[in-house]
Amino acid sequence: MNRGPRGAGARRRLLPRVAACAVCLGILAPGWPGLAQSQSGLVATLDVRLEAGGHTQPLVLPAWEASGDLYLPLQAAAEYLGLEYAWYGTKNKAAVWTASGHKAVLTLAMPTAVVDGQRMIRLPRPLKFVQGGVAVTPETLLDLLQALGEESLLYVPESRTLKAAAPEHAAGRARVPARVAPVPWKLRCVVVDPGHGGRDPGAVGPSGLKEKTVTLEIARQLAKLLEERCGCEVILTRSDDRFIALDQRAQIANEAKADLFVSIHANASRDRKASGSQVFIYNREASSGKAAETAALENSDSNYLEMIKDDLRQSAHEADSITAAGLISQQLEKRGLDTRRIERAPFYVLAKSHIPSILVETAFISHPGEERKLRSRRFLAGLAAGIFTGIQGYAADKRRGTIGP
Ligand SMILES: [Zn+2]
Repeated sequence: MNRGPRGAGARRRLLPRVAACAVCLGILAPGWPGLAQSQSGLVATLDVRLEAGGHTQPLVLPAWEASGDLYLPLQAAAEYLGLEYAWYGTKNKAAVWTASGHKAVLTLAMPTAVVDGQRMIRLPRPLKFVQGGVAVTPETLLDLLQALGEESLLYVPESRTLKAAAPEHAAGRARVPARVAPVPWKLRCVVVDPGHGGRDPGAVGPSGLKEKTVTLEIARQLAKLLEERCGCEVILTRSDDRFIALDQRAQIANEAKADLFVSIHANASRDRKASGSQVFIYNREASSGKAAETAALENSDSNYLEMIKDDLRQSAHEADSITAAGLISQQLEKRGLDTRRIERAPFYVLAKSHIPSILVETAFISHPGEERKLRSRRFLAGLAAGIFTGIQGYAADKRRGTIGP
């Protein structure tokens, strides 16, 4: 077993300022069972227990070795600790902030952070890109938590328990279901993304039907259903025939802090006989050659390297994404659509969105029969209804707290 470069020395150094740093101690505890060396360079998993309101909840964070240090993905760490997180890619900055509004801003490769817009603190190690996401060392996380005044967290090394001072503490809300957090989950906002538009027609059917036209119509109908029947906010990434870059579509979802991102498409294949609906979730590795082909088709406007950096953030939502994808797929099947199994593929637009995200290839526009159907408003209404019912099912599962790693 390899516990990485940090041994007892590092642990001793951390002990005196233990109050806030549950995370580091979880990782550095001797004889720690969650340690593993994998091909991806994963050297440890954190498995402290969060105790709030008399209940405990296991937490698992990946940790990687980079330049001789252990690094934790900042977003996942922030989520577990009940902090808000944002990444400003164009500025290479990440921010974490508390429920009470204290905020720290970190810059990639800089060993400093700015707290509440005025105070600069030195960090033991700079913010770094590790395994496709921004990451910090446990010591850096400890210093950040202290600077943000998060002292209501307590770590008990003997039981590897992270205690939140009160059930209403943010850490309790982040990962512990409704039995601790009294406010039930609600579908507040869905971003519906009609694929393509403007100068990008998407795939074009044998008789000339354009994917961008079909996706807009389905998206509009889906938005209407969601607004009228769920009462949630719906944001369309485009509501007319205009070009929107893939980056921008995901950015809309991230800025809205939406609960779900649904990208609508129509599939195409050189094989004119290929037909049916298929729902995709993001993964860096495509689950089949065909899935890779579909992703390549939809990724025309993308920067693949950038996408890899977003990998970790989207992967954090995999359980949610796969649940939503499964429920939508079932609904499309109930409506008589020939549904293929859910697949994973490296869709750029999904990688970029940092919320649960799915991509629905509604039917094959390259199939003459399906192209004909896609011209029918009734058929499109059926597709929208199927996706809508799937989303409703997802919201019900979230409310029950039955989704999770
Ligand atoms: Zn498309």
